[in-house]
Amino acid sequence: MPELPEVETVVRGLQSTIVGESIADLEVPWEKSLVANDPYESIVGKLITYVHRRAKYIVIQFDIGALVVHLRMTGKLTPVFPEKHVTVILHFESGRTLYFQDTRKFGRMEYTDNPEELLEHIGPEPLSDQFTTQVFYKMLTGKNRLIKPLLLDQSFLAGLGNIYVDEALFQAGIQPLSIASSIPKERSIRLHSAIQSILAESIKAQGTTVLNYSHGDNQSGTYQAALQVYGRKDQPCLVCDTPIIKIKMGQRGTHYCAQCQKLYK
Ligand SMILES: [Zn+2]
Repeated sequence: MPELPEVETVVRGLQSTIVGESIADLEVPWEKSLVANDPYESIVGKLITYVHRRAKYIVIQFDIGALVVHLRMTGKLTPVFPEKHVTVILHFESGRTLYFQDTRKFGRMEYTDNPEELLEHIGPEPLSDQFTTQVFYKMLTGKNRLIKPLLLDQSFLAGLGNIYVDEALFQAGIQPLSIASSIPKERSIRLHSAIQSILAESIKAQGTTVLNYSHGDNQSGTYQAALQVYGRKDQPCLVCDTPIIKIKMGQRGTHYCAQCQKLYK
């Protein structure tokens, strides 16, 4: 499943390829993938003014209104005709085309007049200037919840998914079953810095390719080579040699080192 760095990579690709294009025509081979009252009326004739990311959403901003895209499990936006599983096709005035391809078909494109309103339930962006160590510590102190599901909760913090949460908690030395409000300030600062550095590094590596993710013309990310706990069940911890533990937390495979990571109850 694409997380923040993967979506950011897709957005950067789109910024250099589709901004300035006008939509000449629209095809929707899989109707459920496009949510709009009147798709043709809302989208055809619109000019793409910019593309940006909010959490794991891609916002394709028009002169009026926007298409908000969530890739979900297997969605891809590609200029190259995919042989199979095409759900939405945007034809541009220039003659170029953007294909929404989605094998599992959980991905969605939604037309909205007001993208801010559609996305207002989402928590702060972890790489924004507003997300300071102070702010983060305050956010944690009020929460009597397990730290891992809390970090996955998009209304608490935007864009983090399973892989990066496991990695950030490892770097910060905090077990995923810790209670958020019990995490000392000094550890919360480490966690803040781990979240930011992992996301920044992964964006630099153009994301992590574990399953079903590629960007642009089928290119893969390379951050998977830097993963320290995710996917390393029973392998020795890179710091202390203790075998990495894998447990299930709310259906999500969760990896940690019981030696390096402290449990805060
Ligand atoms: Zn360890």
